Amino acid sequence: MAALVLEYYVLLRSVLHAKPHLRECLTRCRHCRIFFLTHPRNAGRCDLRCPFGCREAHRKQASAQRSAAYYGDAKGKRIKSKLNQRRPRQYCAPEPPSDRPCPPRRRRRRPRWNPQMVEYVRMVVSLIEGRRIRRDQVLRMLARKLRQHTMSRRRQIDQTVAWLQEQPP
Ligand SMILES: [Zn+2]
Repeated sequence: MAALVLEYYVLLRSVLHAKPHLRECLTRCRHCRIFFLTHPRNAGRCDLRCPFGCREAHRKQASAQRSAAYYGDAKGKRIKSKLNQRRPRQYCAPEPPSDRPCPPRRRRRRPRWNPQMVEYVRMVVSLIEGRRIRRDQVLRMLARKLRQHTMSRRRQIDQTVAWLQEQPP
């Protein structure tokens, strides 16, 4: 994880070096203190949470608190009970025991990216390139990067295997 953050900071520094006007969009997460680029409309704010997990975690927590506050009092409990009763009950038949191994799951061909992360990448790339980048362009770019990354990992592993064959431990 530390190596990943270091790699990210090196990249962030080179971006700010190449695009000094983006410095005003640089801010720090109020929760984990990581630096990140924010939208120019939020420039100068230091009460933001990073898009790498803190924002989403806070959103979930706030929503859970709201829900607890709403359903917490007696009247809310009655509403919740009514809501639950209104929900259709589904009958789930117990699964028969099976000796057969599970069929191998087909691997999803397309990786599922976190939608918030995709939106953040889209915003940052738009800022860096100074033009509006579409979501599908980001998805194509991410797929390309993932392929390159997988290939270079494979090359590294191949090299290590070749090295071990030449010089067994
Ligand atoms: Zn954070």
